[in-house]
Amino acid sequence: MHRRCCFFVALCGATQKSALKTEAGCDRRFENSLLRDLLTQNLICFDFMMDTEADVFYRELPKVELHAHLNGSVSFETIEKLIGRKPHLNIEHGMTAIGKGQRRTLDECFQVFKVIHQLVDTEEDILMVATDVIKEFAADGVKYLELRSTPREEKSTGLTKKRYIETVIKAIQQCKNEGVDIDVRFLVAIDRRNGTEVAVETVKLAKEFMRSSDGLVVGIDLSGDPTVGHGKDLLPALQMAKNCGLKLSLHLSEIQSQLEESDLLLDLPPDRIGHGTFLHPEMGGSPSVFDKVVKNNIPLELCLTSNVKGQTVPSYSKHHFKYWYQLGHPSVICTDDKGVFCTDLSQEYQLAASTFGLSREAVWELSQQAIDCIFAPDAVKAAAQTEVD
Ligand SMILES: [Zn+2]
Repeated sequence: MHRRCCFFVALCGATQKSALKTEAGCDRRFENSLLRDLLTQNLICFDFMMDTEADVFYRELPKVELHAHLNGSVSFETIEKLIGRKPHLNIEHGMTAIGKGQRRTLDECFQVFKVIHQLVDTEEDILMVATDVIKEFAADGVKYLELRSTPREEKSTGLTKKRYIETVIKAIQQCKNEGVDIDVRFLVAIDRRNGTEVAVETVKLAKEFMRSSDGLVVGIDLSGDPTVGHGKDLLPALQMAKNCGLKLSLHLSEIQSQLEESDLLLDLPPDRIGHGTFLHPEMGGSPSVFDKVVKNNIPLELCLTSNVKGQTVPSYSKHHFKYWYQLGHPSVICTDDKGVFCTDLSQEYQLAASTFGLSREAVWELSQQAIDCIFAPDAVKAAAQTEVD
């Protein structure tokens, strides 16, 4: 529990840890100093802190998370531990998260990731980060999780790309051995700014781990700053990945100027699309890209808070979830970077429901449909469906 929450318990004499929103995003923690002041002055009562019945519904809803970047998912608590390990970096919380009501440009968002990368540069850090992230998703009611991350090497700490992937796999296995109630798979990410050669090298590594990880490595993610690099340079690597049986989840059309690239990459076709903000004709997409997405029935991974805080979408109500969902196209609610954007999957479902007027049955169906979009083999899909039924 975060120490401020401990303070609340002591202050109010509460004994029920569950009554506190300890799993909530750091937005609420940013508001805690104000709340503390109000509490000490008896201006509000403790019941204000209780989970509402709606919160409980979304938290207990069995969920599938398909778009979660490892480093962007690092929680407030884990960042605190990392800062403690590396005080010489002089990194503060405000540099690693974007709080409630705050907006950043995409470029500023990518600067936040650079700060987190400084904090996560050893095998020990990766193991702690991955283990914490997996347990946090499990505590949020996520039953199946696909994590993604770009393998990095750090000469100063002896970290290699291979050890990076091995360490994430170790974290997944450790959680499994501890009986954490979540099935976790891994997508090896290609950072688009690094060009053809690195992309091919990444796919080769992923292929090796697909064969040796007992099914834990299932695919490739294409991500990174959308304003840098071009998909045509990455096409050979992505085609190679597809040919060897790795599934493809590609960040497509995050910004408006990527239409030509999306048109090209959709010919692969990818197995899932990350964001796809500007694919729909009403968002400036062309009939060609729209047809390719629809004809191939390619699921979209949609991350509401990430897009609003990253300012690629002006508001929740204008999020492209609306168009695709109304079309009956497979749309999966995801977090993207729950740590950086101060959210969790329960909150994202709740936001989608309140913004677009979804009934609880519709929310249930939405979360169940996400199972069809997972990259793990059909047997895992069938087992997950049986568990939810
Ligand atoms: Zn993403």
